[in-house]
Amino acid sequence: MATPGAGRGTSGIGMTSDRTRARMVERLRGEGIRDEVVLSAMNAVPRHIFVDEALAIRAYDDSPLPIGNGQTISQPWIVARMSELARNGRDLDGVLEIGTGCGYQTAVLAQIAKTVYTVERIVALVNKARRHLQALKIRNVRLAHADGSTDLGEDLRVDAIIVAAGATHVPAPLLRYLKPGGRLVLPLARSDDGERGVQKLTVIEMAPAGPREQVFDTVRFVPLLPGLA
Ligand code: SAH
Repeated sequence: MATPGAGRGTSGIGMTSDRTRARMVERLRGEGIRDEVVLSAMNAVPRHIFVDEALAIRAYDDSPLPIGNGQTISQPWIVARMSELARNGRDLDGVLEIGTGCGYQTAVLAQIAKTVYTVERIVALVNKARRHLQALKIRNVRLAHADGSTDLGEDLRVDAIIVAAGATHVPAPLLRYLKPGGRLVLPLARSDDGERGVQKLTVIEMAPAGPREQVFDTVRFVPLLPGLA
């Protein structure tokens, strides 16, 4: 794995969680996740570090869990699926994540990309994610308290962007951060999609002829919201 420091700091957790995590990875395989780079990243990151102690026993279930401030940690399948769609079999130099939450997906992305830029609008979660990433000695992450639905005012160029909150339209300012061939992966609810809180996993690829859209699985995400909190 290319990431210095990733995967360390996990000693003392014991075989139980290692085995449970290996079972989670086998389940993901059974659910159609094919990218071995993503599967080994999922195997490397201890998910129980990212949830409250009382919930740790459920950390490897395939379900979202509360992380405070009305937000949730995405279920493992979603994290794997978005990572697989972002990678699309390529080596990733830079990745931008919108919606750090507790930092779990950030930590997974840190295994598969050289540098991860991640922004979160809720300051309490920024601090929580920072603690989790430090505990795992993950050092290739740049974390910021920012609203990722607007211009981040940065000179970023990344291979992929993952939006971890449900959008009602493609946040246009983000597209200019993508390199040619780069991919934006986001849960997108078009107004005719019906039920509230349901989106389709959508990929916008910066193809030579212009942005190309592909629609994948039906998903449920907390909403992408404007402003800082
Ligand atoms: N990636 C997380 C999932 C986080 S849930 C994981 O690994 O589980 C989605 C997160 O997006 C929430 O923490 C929410 O506060 C954040 N969010 C919503 N709108 C945002 C915005 N405009 N900019 C940055 N973060 C946002």
